[in-house]
Amino acid sequence: DILIEGLDKTFNSTRVLHALDLQITQGEFVTLLGPSGCGKTTTLRCVAGLETPTSGRISIGKQTVVDSRRADFVPPHKRRVGMVFQSYAIWPHMSALANVEFPLKRRKQGSRTEQRAAAERALSAVGMSAYANRYPHELSGGQQQRIALARGLVAAGEVMLYDEPLSNLDAKLRVQMRDEVRRLHDEFGHTSIYVTHDQEEAFAISDRIVIMNGGRIEQAGTPREIFHAPQTRYVADFMGYEN
Ligand code: ATP
Repeated sequence: DILIEGLDKTFNSTRVLHALDLQITQGEFVTLLGPSGCGKTTTLRCVAGLETPTSGRISIGKQTVVDSRRADFVPPHKRRVGMVFQSYAIWPHMSALANVEFPLKRRKQGSRTEQRAAAERALSAVGMSAYANRYPHELSGGQQQRIALARGLVAAGEVMLYDEPLSNLDAKLRVQMRDEVRRLHDEFGHTSIYVTHDQEEAFAISDRIVIMNGGRIEQAGTPREIFHAPQTRYVADFMGYEN
């Protein structure tokens, strides 16, 4: 499970997260959905360790990764989470295979043979085995995002974090890739947190959707619950209900 308790984040004097509580069950695919600036990315970055909460506590499995009361802080690369961003953030000077192996090399996780085998498995899972020795500039945007996805998969223990990973792709590829992201989640048995402002994407991919507004959770529920039983005015409006 991923447990987020009383998560608060203030930048300068602006409070962007207000005592957020969220529990995510192992194996669940949860999407944070809401308008620009509502705090989705900040929440994800706190789970990843790329941001330090102003207060609150986060645990991943049995490990407390940050607890503001106890000054506990596990750095990002020790949290064993895989991350995929909107900008692919792969290294231009490394081959596809080297990019995918990178997180394991950095952590010195496993032998060279094991690292290679894990990277090859991930490349195969995203359908990119044939491109292992290509460099990013020799790949299309969609192919580069697959490499970023494969790198996330090898880095992940049980948790995958996605921040608008498909926003830079054209509409057709976006639909194809989202099905693939969901398939990989099921195949690898991950717990996934996915950030998007795209309603259709959220409904298609998620077990549960968390609607955020102004740094707070408006409602968390299955796509059916959110669609058929919006609990706040905000969610109803967001879903496009008339009155
Ligand atoms: P988007 O979909 O546009 O990425 P979001 O819901 O992910 O939006 P966040 O990126 O979490 O929202 O941002 C929440 C608020 O925090 C915004 O008002 C943003 O301007 C502010 N913010 C985020 N990062 C910083 C920072 N490093 N310094 C100052 N303010 C920040």
